[in-house]
Amino acid sequence: MRNHDDRIIIFDTTLRDGEQAPGCTLNGEEKMAIARQLARLGVDVIEAGFAFASPGDFEAVKKISEQIGTENGPIICSLARAIPADIKAAADALKPAVHSRIHTFISTSDIHLEYQLKKSRSEVLTIAEEMVAYAKSFVDDVEFSPMDAARSEPAYLYEVLTKAIAAGATTINIPDTVGYMTPSEFGDMIRGIKENVPNIDQAILSVHGHNDLGLAVASFLEAIKYGARQLECTINGIGERAGNAALEELVMALHVRRQYFNPFLGRSVDSETPLTGINTTEIYRTSRLVSNLTGMLVQPNKAIVGANAFAHESGIHQDGMLKNRQTYEIMDARSIGLNDNQIVLGKHSGRNAFRTRLKELGYDLADQELNKAFVRFKELADKKKETTDWDLESIVNDETQQPPELFRLEMVQVSCGNNAQPTATVRIRTPEGEELMDAAIGTGPVDAIYKAINRVVKVPNDLIEFSVQSVTAGIDAIGEVTIRLKHEERIFSGRSANTDIIVASAQAYINALNRLYSTVTNGSLNRTQAQQEAGREAASV
Ligand code: MN
Repeated sequence: MRNHDDRIIIFDTTLRDGEQAPGCTLNGEEKMAIARQLARLGVDVIEAGFAFASPGDFEAVKKISEQIGTENGPIICSLARAIPADIKAAADALKPAVHSRIHTFISTSDIHLEYQLKKSRSEVLTIAEEMVAYAKSFVDDVEFSPMDAARSEPAYLYEVLTKAIAAGATTINIPDTVGYMTPSEFGDMIRGIKENVPNIDQAILSVHGHNDLGLAVASFLEAIKYGARQLECTINGIGERAGNAALEELVMALHVRRQYFNPFLGRSVDSETPLTGINTTEIYRTSRLVSNLTGMLVQPNKAIVGANAFAHESGIHQDGMLKNRQTYEIMDARSIGLNDNQIVLGKHSGRNAFRTRLKELGYDLADQELNKAFVRFKELADKKKETTDWDLESIVNDETQQPPELFRLEMVQVSCGNNAQPTATVRIRTPEGEELMDAAIGTGPVDAIYKAINRVVKVPNDLIEFSVQSVTAGIDAIGEVTIRLKHEERIFSGRSANTDIIVASAQAYINALNRLYSTVTNGSLNRTQAQQEAGREAASV
C-alpha cells in the first residue's frame, strides 16, 4: 500500500504542527479521538507529536502508536531534533506502532547555522548523516528535513540531502518554513533537488509549508509536477501563525482535477484511480471534530469545509443548479460527506435506533457514554420535533469529548431583559466535592454567568473569544458555544452544545476552566529548559 510512486502520500501533522497553533491545546483523549478519525479518513502518516517535548507529548505519541498504529493502520511518526536524546525519545514512544517513522531535522541555511546553531557547514553535514543513521538504528522509516531549506545555498543543500539519503533517510522533506516562496519558486526548488541530488530516487520527496501569504496549497500542487510525492498538511489548515497547507483543499484539488494531475504521476489522462488514499467522505466529519476539539472555528467561506462552501445564493446560480447541478458546482457536497442532513430520528426512536445510527456515523460508544448521550438525545427530541445527523454528532461530541470534569455545573439560572439588571446564579461542584453557590450581575446574561462562575472557581483568566453558532437551521436548532480564555500566556478552549445557548455558554466556560485547571494542576506547565527549547525549535519546522 505504501511507497507507490504513482500516488500522493498524505502526511497529516494536525497533532504536531497543527497543535502548535496558538490556543490549540489538546489533552491526551482529544488527541486520541483525532488520531482515530485521521485513520478513518485514510491518511498515510500521522505525525502524532514531538515525543521529547514534554511527558504529555511522549504519552500521546505512545498511546497513538499502541491504539492506532496497527497492521492495517497508518504510519505513526514523531518529530525529533537531530540530537540523540530526541531521537531516542521518539523511538521509545513509537515502539508499539507496527509502522513507525522518526522525522528528524536540522537547519541548513547559513543564517541559522551562524546565529542559531553556531556550527559550521561541515559540522552540520556530519550531524545530519550521523543522526539519520542513529534514527535508522531504531526504525527503517526515517524522514529528514533540512530546516529553512528555501534560504539554504542550493549546492550545500544538495550535499546534505545526498548524505542523509546515503545514511538511510527514506523520505526527504522540503519545508518552506516561513511561507515566503511563490508556487513557481517552490516548484523550481523541488526540480533542482530532483535534478541535482544523485540518489534522490531512493527517497520519497515531501513538501511542508505555511500559509503566511495564502500560498501553501498552490505551492504544494506545483511541487507535485516536479516530483513531490508526499504532502505535509493539517485538517482545516491549522498550525503556526497563518497555518499549514489544508489537507481537505489538497485532497479535493487532486480529486476534482485528477485529469490535470494524472500525467505528472505517469498515468494516462483518463485514469480513474484516485491520486490519494483519502476517503473523501470522511473529510467533513474530520473537519468538524478538529474544529470542535481545538476551538479553532472554520471561517464560513473556507474552501471545501466552510459553511458556505456549497451554498448558492445568487438567483442565476440557483436557477442553473436546479436545471443541472454541474452548471455551477465543480464537486458534489456528498463527496466530502456532507449529506443532505436528513432527518433521522424523532422522540419515539429507541436506544437501539440511536445506537445503530451512531454506528453508521462512525461513533462506537461504550455503554456508559451511550446512556449519557441517549438521555441528551431524549431531552433534545422533546424540544425539537426532528433530529438530524448533525444534532446527533453534536450531542455525542459534547458527551464524549470533554476535558476531565473537575468543576461540574449543577445549576445555572439567569434573569435578564430590557429594564432589568442581568443577574445569574450558579451552583458548582468543586473537584473536592463541595457544592458552592454564588450570584453576580453583569452587562448581559453571559457576562453575569461568567462573573458568578469566577466567584466560585477562582482561577484567574481573561475571556478572549466567545462565539455562538447554530448546528442546524430553524428556531429550535442546537446552539454551539465556543470560547477561548487566556491564563498566564496560554490559551484554553471550551465548547458546548445545547438548545439553550445560556446553558451552553455556562457549560463551555466550565469546560475551558476544567481544561485550564487540569493543565495547571498536573504540573505539565513545569517543563524542563531542554523541553522548552525543543518546543521552540519544533515551531520552526
Ligand atoms: Mn511547520
